[in-house]
Amino acid sequence: MNKKDIENEIKERLEWEEKNKCRDCDTRVNGCGSKNGNFNSSYMLKDDLWREIIANEDESRKGQLCIICAQLRAGRKFVPEDFRDVPLNLRPNGMMTLLFPREFKDHLAAFVGE
Ligand SMILES: [Zn+2]
Repeated sequence: MNKKDIENEIKERLEWEEKNKCRDCDTRVNGCGSKNGNFNSSYMLKDDLWREIIANEDESRKGQLCIICAQLRAGRKFVPEDFRDVPLNLRPNGMMTLLFPREFKDHLAAFVGE
């Protein structure tokens, strides 16, 4: 690996870090590789709510906010219905288990019929 390659790799890494930071507090949002149920785990809110919170001028959905800053921007705590029904939210140690451990367990119990 020569110097140019190393410089490019560092540049890409920094750009990636920048893109995955919470816009308000700069904490790194972990993406779908995150294994720990943590406040910087990734999650997906329903589109309308997310657009309202992220407030991009072009009305796009791009950008990241950690779950704490997202709730601060929303001015309320999220409820399970705010989240999209996607594997990212529903996986073990995902945002649903973290925020709503009881509801999530009840939901799974209903699903498996116990
Ligand atoms: Zn944040």
